[in-house]
Amino acid sequence: MSFESLGLSAPVLQAVAEKGYTTPTLIQEKAIPICLMGRDVLGCAQTGTGKTASFVLPMIDILSEGRAKARMPRSLILEPTRELAAQVAENFEIYGKYHKLNMALLIGGVSFPDQERALERGADVLIATPGRLLDHFERGGILLNDVKILVIDEADRMLDMGFIPDVERIVATLPPLRQTLFFSATMPPEIKRLADRFLSNPKEVTV
Ligand code: AMP
Repeated sequence: MSFESLGLSAPVLQAVAEKGYTTPTLIQEKAIPICLMGRDVLGCAQTGTGKTASFVLPMIDILSEGRAKARMPRSLILEPTRELAAQVAENFEIYGKYHKLNMALLIGGVSFPDQERALERGADVLIATPGRLLDHFERGGILLNDVKILVIDEADRMLDMGFIPDVERIVATLPPLRQTLFFSATMPPEIKRLADRFLSNPKEVTV
């Protein structure tokens, strides 16, 4: 299986090639075509499997196609830790270098004004930890009405860290008509129930 057969755009393929990747990993092979179709994904995959690119690459293409003039965030990626959020942002920069997507990284430990400026510039992609996103939301700094793609990454870690109530509050503010990509390394019953509530007719991908 090659990256070329997955349905990604030429500029994304170019960025992938420049990064030095020649073959998609199993999760990429399985998840990318489903994401590009617009379907929900329930992905059971650990860090280290190439999971990040499996959602970042198709998201770049989806977001670049229907770019609105008003830059309301059209996608939201929730990560349990600042480090993971920063890694996802780095992936967006690497693979999206031929696209003009704006992103805002909303994590703790960084000053609010810098993040607020990124939001004011207009962000296509928000990459956030749940607590900091809610802080911005409560300050009135974010409108999530236009979010069409939601990624919940490392759901089992979110559960371990006690973030599920925050995640639920965030998801409750999002438009119900959206694409949701839900990843977890393990699928205990609590996570499965959460996935059932957040996803609509998802394709399951396990690696
Ligand atoms: P992740 O599971 O997203 O944390 O990725 C694990 C590591 O695999 C990262 O260092 C990626 O840069 C790398 N990686 C992702 N996709 C590929 C690929 N198709 N070929 C080789 N390495 C990859």
